[in-house]
Amino acid sequence: EWSTVTVVDPATGEELAAYPEHGPAEIEAALAAADAAFRAWRSRPVAERAQLLDAVARVLRERADNLARRITAEMGKPLAEARFEVEKCASACAYFAEAGPAALADETIDAGPGRSIVTYEPLGVIFAVMPWNFPLWQVIRFAGPAILAGNTALLKHAPNVSGTALALEDVFRAAGAPAGVLTSLIVAPPNVPRVSADLIADPRVAAVTLTGSDRAGAFVAAEAGRALKKSVLELGGSDPFVVLADADLDVAVHNAVKGRLMCAGQTCIAPKRFLVDATIVREFECRMVDALEMVRVGDPREEGTQLGPLARLDILETLERQVAETVEQGAVLRTGGRRLDRPGYYFPPTVLTGVRPGMTAFTDETFGPVVAITPFADEDEAVALANDTRYGLGATVWSTDTERAHAVARRIESGAVSVNTLVASDPRLPFGGIKRSGYGRELAAVGAREFTNIRTYKLA
Ligand code: NDP
Repeated sequence: EWSTVTVVDPATGEELAAYPEHGPAEIEAALAAADAAFRAWRSRPVAERAQLLDAVARVLRERADNLARRITAEMGKPLAEARFEVEKCASACAYFAEAGPAALADETIDAGPGRSIVTYEPLGVIFAVMPWNFPLWQVIRFAGPAILAGNTALLKHAPNVSGTALALEDVFRAAGAPAGVLTSLIVAPPNVPRVSADLIADPRVAAVTLTGSDRAGAFVAAEAGRALKKSVLELGGSDPFVVLADADLDVAVHNAVKGRLMCAGQTCIAPKRFLVDATIVREFECRMVDALEMVRVGDPREEGTQLGPLARLDILETLERQVAETVEQGAVLRTGGRRLDRPGYYFPPTVLTGVRPGMTAFTDETFGPVVAITPFADEDEAVALANDTRYGLGATVWSTDTERAHAVARRIESGAVSVNTLVASDPRLPFGGIKRSGYGRELAAVGAREFTNIRTYKLA
């Protein structure tokens, strides 16, 4: 059954646009084009591939306003955040263009007689499944380095950001990318598992990457395993935000609010579990409630809006259920907790206190503006609580004693950990998780090498 994919404006609940789904013939044509493009693209000098990324950066900046408005319309993040996302993509492309070639350059290694050389050669067509929360950045983060390395990309974006997916394909076209270097496939959700499995099994696809839930990641990884192909997974998180007794509470509260509200709380590296020393937990709770009740909730298109709607109705329903369950399990609801009585998918900033392990908001990833606060008695308990999760993406520790916080940070299991600053993705630093947050790394030199054949030459 082939149909259309409809995109709903989360700020109103009304339909924005409908996109015709790509049928089997179009998917086959896209795959054939990506495969043909790979053969030519891989043999272009890396400097020429870097020029493409510079051109992509330029086109992103030229089109920034349009792209940002489309992102906001499709998934509801405040316009200022959408503009920030577009600029982050542009500056990252410029960064990859400049720094990427060195990460991919041949290396000569002294390994006895003769010459030993290690090269980073592209793999082929990479199938990418991406989510809607950072609809440009999630794609660029993978595709910038992968395309620089000489691969080509077939993108299956989330249906609610289909317009952004096609707009990004057009950015690459306008930047001069040969046809097939980056192609967006529009696939309706019921067909996604089958289309994904078929693409992963196809000999022309070399590897797969997915950013999204652990459920979708496990599905894609299983298909990749069946086909014996490489996969890179960037999945969810339930990052701990550990506030030690000597933390600067102004700094901690400011960052807790900022980190939890970005993208209406729908980010993988948002702090989600707030673990606070019992001697200061009352103070922290009161300050969080006060700060969150001041937040301007409203239309994401209006300047000054700090919190827009959630991206989809089912995300809102899930969050509302998670909060209700956590309260039934014994936590105290201090503010928020129920959807707002207005059109669109609005959920207010919410604070739950007395949250314990085993409660829903502690165990599951909450994808929305929900702050779950858990007190701890000492550092050992803080570390045990921080690690009492199936996820391991990011973590933060807050303390005026940086060395002490660093020592606590070393004991937390995660792909990234920060002291006195929020975890953020940065093109210069590796990004990724452990446990059910996934595997493989994006960004930095290791990210640029993820989709390469790390090849050994011996010339005797
Ligand atoms: P999903 O993981 O379901 O969606 C992410 C992407 O994966 C979409 O493109 C989706 O397409 C695709 N997908 C889903 N199932 C499959 C499959 N079997 N095979 C191939 N692709 C698949 O996340 P949701 O958007 O439904 O959000 C649900 C929850 O996931 C969130 O509440 C959050 O906890 C987590 N999440 C985490 C993200 C992160 O940044 N780490 C991003 C998004 C979600 P389609 O929608 O068409 O199925």
